[in-house]
Amino acid sequence: MERRGSGRPPRIGILAVQGAVREHAEAIRAVGAEPVEVRLPRDLAEVDALILPGGESTTMRKMIDEYGLREPIRAFAAGGAPMFGTCAGMILLADRLADGGDPVFPLLDIEVRRNAYGRQLDSFEADLQIPVLGEAPLHGVFIRAPVVSEVGPAAEVLAVDPDGRPIAVRQGRVLATAFHPELTPDRRLHELLLRMLDDAPPPREPTEAAAES
Ligand code: GLN
Repeated sequence: MERRGSGRPPRIGILAVQGAVREHAEAIRAVGAEPVEVRLPRDLAEVDALILPGGESTTMRKMIDEYGLREPIRAFAAGGAPMFGTCAGMILLADRLADGGDPVFPLLDIEVRRNAYGRQLDSFEADLQIPVLGEAPLHGVFIRAPVVSEVGPAAEVLAVDPDGRPIAVRQGRVLATAFHPELTPDRRLHELLLRMLDDAPPPREPTEAAAES
């Protein structure tokens, strides 16, 4: 696989301040792209898209601000780069937090409620129908997942859980799931992220990117 017009495989950043980084890196390698851990604003100049992994969104939010990543990541997304948030990553991308608190990268017209599947369902697995990925169900692993409590008109629901609550949403080049697609061998969501690169503007020249950072 090659990043269109660039003669190199796509480079997918994974926010590596906390959380499930390694499994996403393996998934990215499996779909023929190169994973790059993003810890510093300048790391963003190396990548074509960014994954916000699962973890603890409160800790991740703190680290994002400590590392000075909030504005650079907002600018990266505003420049058209695809973003993919999983679990805590979905919380970071939500426009509205039902429990209060400032949104971090408000890029998805949804409201989320943290840890709202409740005690009994703290962690669970479910076979999910995700029509954009084809007929075969995708096995979803949910770990203290957020509940999407509201979806606004700008966001598209790609899949719902067995009770009908949205668990995968997309808005333009921003994708998010309440579950952890990196924890199962099914790579269709990581492939979808790579396809979203085709809708993105062409990559910046390395020299240009370096000059900006
Ligand atoms: N419960 C975590 C939070 O609210 C998310 C859990 C996860 O990413 N697996 O941030």
